[in-house]
Amino acid sequence: MSEKEKEMEKLKKECLEFCYRHPLYEKGTYPVFGKGSLEAKIMLVGEAPGYWESQKGEPFVGAAGKILDELLESVGIKREEVYITNLIKLRPPDNRDPKPEEIKDFAPYLEKQIEIIKPKVICPLGRHSMKFLMEKFGLENQIEGISKIHGRLFESKNLFRSITIIPFYHPAVATYNPNMKGILAKDFKILERFK
Ligand code: URA
Repeated sequence: MSEKEKEMEKLKKECLEFCYRHPLYEKGTYPVFGKGSLEAKIMLVGEAPGYWESQKGEPFVGAAGKILDELLESVGIKREEVYITNLIKLRPPDNRDPKPEEIKDFAPYLEKQIEIIKPKVICPLGRHSMKFLMEKFGLENQIEGISKIHGRLFESKNLFRSITIIPFYHPAVATYNPNMKGILAKDFKILERFK
């Protein structure tokens, strides 16, 4: 096992222990830590697990996941080549939006996942992940509504490295508004230059 794998396994264990004690945890379901390549250049960050994700313990395996797979395939990227996780690792009741305190609870795990993987690009999927990640990377002055900044590149540079944030609409929007699939597909094209 590589150092990275060891580090991620340790983090996963800590995160799962935290999840089983968290008020959002529901018996008979699974936390969703994240999955994919630890060498990924591209990291996708959704919002929170839905029903199917919490049944399987894996991110994006329901209807939104099917759309995400199609979008990745349309730009020649395999799911195994990227790393996929969520802002929060437990399913909120009735898939409601995550609360600010829940986002705060799970933030250290997402931050550590980013630190271990060191992706070149992070794509928040949806407005909650967009807000969190743009704030985290010092881009808070550039935050606008997702309908305005989806598909745009935001560079965050510090002394040690640079990272690109590209917010996308959440793929679930295409399950209830088929027109959105075209917009998402157009936005995803930008990933071709990072694979
Ligand atoms: N929606 C998300 O934001 N994340 C998932 O893992 C599944 C659906």
